[in-house]
Amino acid sequence: MIGGDAPVRIQSMTNTPTRDAAATVAQVVRLAGAGAELVRVAVPRADDTAALPQIVAESPVPIIADVHFHFDRALEAIAAGAAKIRLNPGNIADRDQVLRIIDAAGAAGVAIRVGVNEGSVVERRPGEQRDSDLAAPLAELMAAKMAEYLELFDAAGFEKLVLSVKSHDAVTTVAANRLLSTRWDWPLHLGVTHAGTAETGAIRSAAALGALLCEGIGDTIRISYAGDPVAEVQAACELLASLRLRKRKGVELIACPTCGRLETDITDIVEDVRTALAEVTEPITVAIMGCVVNGPGEAQNADVAICAGKNKAVLYRSGQRIGTVAAGEIVDAVVAEVRDAARSQGYA
Ligand code: SF4
Repeated sequence: MIGGDAPVRIQSMTNTPTRDAAATVAQVVRLAGAGAELVRVAVPRADDTAALPQIVAESPVPIIADVHFHFDRALEAIAAGAAKIRLNPGNIADRDQVLRIIDAAGAAGVAIRVGVNEGSVVERRPGEQRDSDLAAPLAELMAAKMAEYLELFDAAGFEKLVLSVKSHDAVTTVAANRLLSTRWDWPLHLGVTHAGTAETGAIRSAAALGALLCEGIGDTIRISYAGDPVAEVQAACELLASLRLRKRKGVELIACPTCGRLETDITDIVEDVRTALAEVTEPITVAIMGCVVNGPGEAQNADVAICAGKNKAVLYRSGQRIGTVAAGEIVDAVVAEVRDAARSQGYA
């Protein structure tokens, strides 16, 4: 379920060729394991939709077919058991074809995400700069295009809709989704399109999606950037947990950002602890602090904490000081305490 009382859903998209069903299923399983609740697959070719029945059958989560330009692919994906299709009606020029897709989806109980991208409403010449005041007019243009598309769905009595308006620009994405949320009650899919690599994509997505989610806008999210999509899902999980919209699975790591007071370099220690506890699924807070200035305060609120000093660290459990460990033993000591905390919570 997306929307209504359902939690904000995390989705992602595979980057394997969909026609390679085994590779795609393997990636879907990894994405689901990381926290994706829906996974979208691209279906540009007939052999991609031909692989869908196997993917749908073997996937642990609902599969969304991403359709662009090809009317046939939409019908094939619906017949193949996709739970939802993503459709930008502007990509399918023939109105009758769009209506046939809507009819087929309605008959099969398949949801449709109706998408409007900034590129659907404005074409920028190469090198042309974005005017900083464009966000509001662009949002209006995208909402107007959405209204135009929705007339088709309304005429067909189709209601299993999710709406999305996307831009590569965070400010425009926020403005457009705010506008949609005031005009329609359909669930909203949030994302920033063409966000680039992890460096730009994660931050741009967090800026736009975080602002909207804080206002209660958004029912399903995809953080997208180039690379292994599992990283997108991990970023989406972290964003929703940070906003307390979803419960964090596993360890919440509070770590000193380091400054001139540091007497033991804890950068590697934090990374080693994070890696060692990656498979822990219990909700345990761990603080790794570099000195006594902020350390004891954070330690009070963490399940397990250390405050590092010169060549040693003080170890805390539930706010109580329980001992001192040498710098070289910090990782093992913290990991052992976390596992013990998990056991004593009755999880492990
Ligand atoms: Fe600096 Fe201490 Fe804070 Fe780390 S915990 S950033 S060392 S003041």
